[in-house]
Amino acid sequence: SVPLTFFGGIGGASRHGILIKGSNYMEALANASTVVFDKTGTLTQGVFKVAVVHSSGLTDDELLHLAAHVEANSTHPIATALREAHAIDDCGCSVSDVQEIAGEGVVARVGGRSIAVGNARLMKRMGTTPQACHEAGGTIIHVAIDGAYAGHVHIEDIVKPDSPQAIEDLHATGVRKTVMLTGDREDVARQVASELKIDEHHANLLPQDKVASVEALLGARSKGEALAFVGDGINDAPVLARADIGIAMGAMGSDAAIEAADVVLMDDKPSKIAVAIRIARRTLAIAR
Ligand code: ADP
Ligand code: MG
Repeated sequence: SVPLTFFGGIGGASRHGILIKGSNYMEALANASTVVFDKTGTLTQGVFKVAVVHSSGLTDDELLHLAAHVEANSTHPIATALREAHAIDDCGCSVSDVQEIAGEGVVARVGGRSIAVGNARLMKRMGTTPQACHEAGGTIIHVAIDGAYAGHVHIEDIVKPDSPQAIEDLHATGVRKTVMLTGDREDVARQVASELKIDEHHANLLPQDKVASVEALLGARSKGEALAFVGDGINDAPVLARADIGIAMGAMGSDAAIEAADVVLMDDKPSKIAVAIRIARRTLAIAR
């Protein structure tokens, strides 16, 4: 039977905007020793601004036009940024055969040509090589037209103002290891991890690689310790389900994430994880 104090703990957490889906997660939260984060939308705002456009042959406007149309129906934050950089106008060009490849990007036919918009991995799949200048920071989204390299767009995401405190608080509560997983480039991952003082980071991961990373970390934890994964649900619902405690962002997160998660942070603030751990420990102490 579930001690009544557990309901008190769940109620207390909800007043902080932390939705805990069952009393069984109280114990896991209290014993969290490893906290694993997705980057985009979780530790960063996931609100990208287009910084620079480099195109070969096309004008910058033409490149952005193609990118925005290919991304017309994607819910990825990068797609939103590209649509904000160039409105979906009624250019009369037909968009068809849209294929979104998780962790890579989107391919579609626009006005009779095959357009690919995504990372270096996607360019390789299209049989072309990205020619990015790496001086500018941020995420780089490449464009290929009919398998030929056409240019790239630099887009910049920023760390949430709440993220540094979130990591500091976790270490202060005694969480032994913080980890960041991302499908983004190593350069970007290293910069964010060092800014936030995250113990370990892994970049260039596909959704299935994130599951494998979490499984390795699950295997490394000691008896009685729990692993929490925190994500926004875009491409990471399987990882949310695999962790001892799946924590989703409630405001920006996808419905799939909220569904797959055990704990939902209604205001998307990662600092609420340490708050949840402290409430869980207090609740367990009272129950014993
Ligand atoms: P993260 O691990 O940072 O949350 P994702 O796994 O969602 O990121 O995506 C990893 C990478 O795949 C992105 O950094 C981007 O390069 C590429 N990508 C994914 N979806 C898209 C898309 N809709 N358009 C362009 N690029 C994308
Ligand atoms: Mg993500």
